[in-house]
Amino acid sequence: MINFDYVRARDVADAIREISAEPAAKFIAGGTNLIDLMKYDVERPMRLIDITHLPLNNVEETGNGGLRIGALVPNSDLAYHPLIEKRYPLLSSAILAGASQQLRHMASTGGNLMQRTRCFYFYDVATPCNKRAPGSGCSAINGINRINAILGTSEACIATHPSDMCVALAALEAKVHVAGPAGERAIAFSDFHRLPGDTPQIDTNLKANEIIAAIELPAQGFAANYSYLKIRDRLSYAFALVSVAAALELEGDRIKDARLALGGVAHKPWRNPEAEAALRGQPADSNAYAKAAEILLRGAKGFAHNTFKIDLARRAIFRTLAQAANGTPQIQSSKKIR
Ligand SMILES: Cc1cc2nc3c(=O)[nH]c(=O)nc-3n(C[C@H](O)[C@H](O)[C@H](O)COP(=O)(O)OP(=O)(O)OC[C@H]3O[C@@H](n4cnc5c(N)ncnc54)[C@H](O)[C@@H]3O)c2cc1C
Ligand code: SF4
Repeated sequence: MINFDYVRARDVADAIREISAEPAAKFIAGGTNLIDLMKYDVERPMRLIDITHLPLNNVEETGNGGLRIGALVPNSDLAYHPLIEKRYPLLSSAILAGASQQLRHMASTGGNLMQRTRCFYFYDVATPCNKRAPGSGCSAINGINRINAILGTSEACIATHPSDMCVALAALEAKVHVAGPAGERAIAFSDFHRLPGDTPQIDTNLKANEIIAAIELPAQGFAANYSYLKIRDRLSYAFALVSVAAALELEGDRIKDARLALGGVAHKPWRNPEAEAALRGQPADSNAYAKAAEILLRGAKGFAHNTFKIDLARRAIFRTLAQAANGTPQIQSSKKIR
């Protein structure tokens, strides 16, 4: 039996006080990842700080035409929120490509950002893993690495971030609002998750005494031309081998603005502003898509079992951009089944 304390935070300030007081404490929201990790003995928090009663479950319009999404808004509520379906269907589609209905009902917005990798060895405490036990080694580099990363890897870790929602948030250039003892600060989405480097145990730039309060979406939602394509081993209830979020603003048949992010291939949602710049001003055609794919996959490196991801990603980028340009997204958010 591994004992731990449980406390329910009364408000955000109380949650920050609690997490600051006990370095081995963890917040618990939906519990869909943390409880599994505790059962597998991967995480051993001394204290669980229940944040489910904090007032962080609203979706509100911001003064600059965007939206502020509370960290406790459940993934299902967010995907089906009328403002998200109408103005940010890319986000809705990405959320609905993840997990299962039951899990999405429980999973929170903040928890989705903080979920940990699905690398097999991270979950298997009998094997070395630098992310779980720093300095112990990486079993995946010479092991079964079919689901692992092809971009931004290091000698210490080749894990991927498993979220679908985060890939859309990266493409939409969301901001993460976090609260700590010194008040609230905003982190650009592209700076929130980290590459593994030689500290793969640290997934994000959230400080140990901070809580995610909200996600802010800018005004531009790319609602007319978008697509989220997720390639996986099963059609549901499986994490992405490769996923692509594409969002375009078209002027006639030319691309005025573009966003492109990949999931399932790196320790964080993978973007490269150069790939998006290469699309701007170009006709929406196969030459432009091929160029963007080439730039986005620059430096990709496969391991024994996942080299196929490089070609898969190239073709998925091409297809997702074509779907976005044609206005035929992979998931039509208005036709989704609840
Ligand atoms: C079988 C299965 C299949 C899944 N498939 C997919 C999939 O295909 N795509 C996908 O994207 N996801 C998938 N998921 C993951 C799921 O989306 C996450 O488990 C979920 O989003 C986590 O949210 P939660 O509220 O349950 O987090 P919890 O489990 O409560 O917490 C997870 C982590 O986040 C931290 N945390 C939570 N809230 C905050 C906050 N506000 N501030 C700071 N830290 C916080 C906790 O301390 C903990 O470390 C799957 C999960 C399961 C179990
Ligand atoms: S890839 Fe990362 S998470 Fe997987 S075994 Fe190696 S160090 Fe651990």
